[in-house]
Amino acid sequence: MLEFDVIIVGGGLAGSRAAVEIAKTDPSLKIAVVAKTHPIRSHSVAAQGGIAASLKNVDEQDSWKAHAFDTVKGSDYLADQDAVEILTQEAPDVVIDLEHMGVLFSRLPDGRIAQRAFGGHSHNRTCYAADKTGHAILHELVNNLRRFGVTILDEWYVMRLILTEGQAKGVVAYRILDGHLEVIRAKAVMFATGGYGRVFNTTSNDYASTGDGLAMTALAGLPLEDMEFVQFHPTGLYPVGVLISEAVRGEGAYLINSEGERFMTNYAPSRMELAPRDITSRAITCEINAGRGINSDGSAGGSFVHLDLRHMGKEKIMSRVPFCWEEAHRLVGVDAVIEPIPVRPTIHYCMGGIPVNTDGKVRGSADTLVEGFFAAGESACVSVHGANRLGSNSLLECVVYGRRTGAAIAQYVQNRKLPTIDEQEYLEQAKEEIQSLLNQSGKYRIGEIRQAFQDCMTQYCGVFRTEALMSKGLEKIQELQQQCAEIYLDDKGSGWNTEIIEALELRSLMVVGKMIMTSALNRQESRGAHCRDDYPQRDDTKFLRHTMAYYSSADIDVRYAPVNISMFQPKERKY
Ligand SMILES: Cc1cc2nc3c(=O)[nH]c(=O)nc-3n(C[C@H](O)[C@H](O)[C@H](O)COP(=O)(O)OP(=O)(O)OC[C@H]3O[C@@H](n4cnc5c(N)ncnc54)[C@H](O)[C@@H]3O)c2cc1C
Repeated sequence: MLEFDVIIVGGGLAGSRAAVEIAKTDPSLKIAVVAKTHPIRSHSVAAQGGIAASLKNVDEQDSWKAHAFDTVKGSDYLADQDAVEILTQEAPDVVIDLEHMGVLFSRLPDGRIAQRAFGGHSHNRTCYAADKTGHAILHELVNNLRRFGVTILDEWYVMRLILTEGQAKGVVAYRILDGHLEVIRAKAVMFATGGYGRVFNTTSNDYASTGDGLAMTALAGLPLEDMEFVQFHPTGLYPVGVLISEAVRGEGAYLINSEGERFMTNYAPSRMELAPRDITSRAITCEINAGRGINSDGSAGGSFVHLDLRHMGKEKIMSRVPFCWEEAHRLVGVDAVIEPIPVRPTIHYCMGGIPVNTDGKVRGSADTLVEGFFAAGESACVSVHGANRLGSNSLLECVVYGRRTGAAIAQYVQNRKLPTIDEQEYLEQAKEEIQSLLNQSGKYRIGEIRQAFQDCMTQYCGVFRTEALMSKGLEKIQELQQQCAEIYLDDKGSGWNTEIIEALELRSLMVVGKMIMTSALNRQESRGAHCRDDYPQRDDTKFLRHTMAYYSSADIDVRYAPVNISMFQPKERKY
């Protein structure tokens, strides 16, 4: 059995920032970052557009309060305002702190950090490193993990959270290299396992974003919060789904339909292309559904719209958003300097997650906390994004709440003893689970069931939802879950058996998918990214509340928890 003071699962921005904070606060602590990828390959590395903070380098009128208001309005008033206050107040400090660590932000001519416009933000406050912001920040943080002597267990798949007597005591992990199983115990366990984009068939997320941390938490009997709020990013590159950053619109690009019209004028006249993502994604979907989408031969009635950068000119495109130009060129052969980019909404971000307080402590219910268990980043729900996240607020959340959670953990583990764990019992169970996957004989391949599941989620729980659709979707998931018992694996070995990992990930996807669909079915209103054709209005009387869903293979128990409203009273949300 391996032993550490702290285990952090996930080496993205949230996990790495927390690890650095713990190591800085108390260098004597033994910290491990466990990740199924190399930390540098966490999805954070793909973040493009930037990180929001009211530094006022470009816009002196900006303030943390304006940032807080934009965030709460963007969230359709579901964000917890105490958490938003912390997020926006600490933002300038964490950005300067990153800069001091060595992050290479893009600059203004006078040398200060540059800031650009972003959707839903009323001021130019997004700091960036061209359109490779996540890359710049993550590399610096991972360098710091090494500098502070944090142990990195990379390419280890964590398959179970050990939680007994209301306390997180460790994890069970599978070393992908050779199939070795290990119980790791610690005084504190933190999940920073990222999002679940792969639950759907078209996503901007990497292959590793399968919601494992969410599934493990739910399977341990803890609730997941606000899982119905799934963010579609308006501009996924058609047909592959990878992201064309909002920075492109922040720098001035237009959205155009088959009639050559900047159609956002009909949906959000004051913000146009820089309306929040839920509104822009719905607008694009409505245009496509109304026959004003575009086909590959340029005719009307197709399934994408155009993102037009041509008026921005080559110099601006190549200096501000070079990576987006390259993606379109490499993946679909479009030179954005002379032709528009085909785009449509793609699954991008998970607003809900593991419920935590503002110190990253996991909630066991609306009013209890779990001992020894922490979470931050996209896998957590603190909730600063409520029903819809604003672009460039997620990197910020990872860094602000990664740092806070790290500080809280460094305090928490002082004078605590390592918990006792029956190592053999957990090892036996894990071994059995892997063996039964290997021994299973049936007629289905993993890829087949995964595709059917992803298609089901996209078809029955997409941009527009209804009770009839989602009820059907849930039946379908139930069927697919049963078919999982009839999957067969070709690879029976223990060295780099990626099929075993895919089978474990498929289990996560299904648990998460069911939580999303059930939470969505129960929320009978439209708010932020959750849009019900059968309940088109926001209903504050009944649903200005957070969903807390408890998993079970039969019925998911859906309860609700209050929203913190300390600064801004809910109003109609118009742009
Ligand atoms: C293409 C793209 C562009 C984006 N651009 C921006 C942007 O410009 N601004 C912004 O604010 N946000 C952006 N976002 C969102 C933002 O990047 C993410 O929300 C954020 O980086 C998530 O960081 P994280 O640390 O929570 O998780 P991640 O970076 O996703 O890291 C998750 C970690 O958990 C590990 N892990 C997961 N499951 C297991 C397991 N079972 N066992 C062991 N390890 C596990 C992974 O290996 C990985 O190390 C973007 C997202 C995408 C997809």
